[in-house]
Parts: sequence; C-alpha cells; structure tokens
Amino acid sequence: MRLDKFMCKSTALTRTAATQCIELAEVSVNGQLITDPKFQVHENNHIIWRGERLVARASRYIMLHKPLNTLSSNVDGAYPSLLHCIHIDRVEDLHIVGRLDADTSGLVLLTDDGRWSFEIIRPDKLCPKTYRVTLRDPIADDVAPRFLAGIELQNESQLTAPATLTIVSPKEVLLTITEGRYHQVKRMFAAVGNRVNGLHREQIGNLQLDVELGQWRNLTAQEVASFI
Ligand code: URA
Repeated sequence: MRLDKFMCKSTALTRTAATQCIELAEVSVNGQLITDPKFQVHENNHIIWRGERLVARASRYIMLHKPLNTLSSNVDGAYPSLLHCIHIDRVEDLHIVGRLDADTSGLVLLTDDGRWSFEIIRPDKLCPKTYRVTLRDPIADDVAPRFLAGIELQNESQLTAPATLTIVSPKEVLLTITEGRYHQVKRMFAAVGNRVNGLHREQIGNLQLDVELGQWRNLTAQEVASFI
C-alpha cells in the first residue's frame, strides 16, 4: 500500500498530515528516508516516524443490518449514510461492499480492507447474494425457469447469469443472484412484467444476516476467511 495510507492506518494522522510528515523527510522505510507519499510499502517493512516503529492497525470487517431510507455511501444525500448506524473510531475509513438502494434493507458488509472487498465484488467470483422480494403481482409459473436461463435487462445485451428463485408465497420470493448489476433485482422483475415493492438482502456468500435492524457486529476470522 502507499506510504501515506500506511501512516493513516498506523497513526491518528489524517492523509494530509501524513503527506506533510513524509514530504518533510520524517519517515524512513527499511532505513531509507522516503519523501514520496506514494512510495509502496508492505506491512512487514520497518517504518519509522519520529523515532517510533509504526504498526498498522488490524483491518475491520463488519456486518450491518441496513435500515430503509439510508444511503450506501460515505456521505449523506437525500437520506443519511448508513455509516450513522456505526459508532466507532474512524468510521469514515470504512467502505461499503456492494451497495443497496436507499429503499432496500438488509445485509451490508463494511471494511477498510480493499483487497477483501474486491474478492467479494469481483465478477468472476460469482459470489451469491440472496434477497427476499415482495412483489406487486403474484409470481408467474415461468419466472423461475426464465431467471435460471438468464434474461435480458432493458438496455443491456448480455443475459443475466443463472439466478435461482424460491417461492415463499404468491407475492413473496427469495432470489439468489451472482452478479451486481445496477438495480438488478428490480430490473429482473420488471423484465418479466412484475414490480418489486419490497427488497431485503438476507445473505452474501455463506454469511446470513443475524443482527437486528440498525445493529452491527464484527465478523469472526472464519467469516472473513470464507470470502477469500
Ligand atoms: N437489486 C436492486 O434492484 N436493488 C438493490 O438494492 C440490490 C439489488
């Protein structure tokens, strides 16, 4: 990672302050003074600032039960950011792994480990995500086979990847998809002439949502490893 980022991960410095310290030649890496904030370092490197060895803080991995009318963004907009649910130091360093719409609730993962989140969202990983969907109209018999075969979304030429549908009741289904296209679930149901009235994400990979609305918890080491 970049030296300025490493300093932020290992001190209370902001990125601007870290950059200043580096440019003022206050930081050495493996015995060599480094003045380029972009210099690439590894956590095992011997990085000294003002006489002290810096050690990166452990990365954080969090599950949150996103309430409706919150934004999957680090800043507020028409609604508050879901980060307001989490009261910890440096919450702004977290990023959201796979966004949900403002009117979708459910499981959201947050982390400050970019490599880990990439393992979850990279398209070739086909990480399954399961949604509980409330529909305007009763589900038609042909929808499950159509979703399994892949359907064409409006303004897209590539069919959706096979998705599995479990019918809970005429207007409630569970849908598992392995992609993360824009508004994908809503657009899949629109493509078969129905409409999503309520959307809730229950599961990502093997990880099932198990905290109450608006609550969060740290993932266990085993849960973190399950995505790698
Ligand atoms: N698909 C959608 O349409 N919305 C979401 O929030 C997630 C998946």
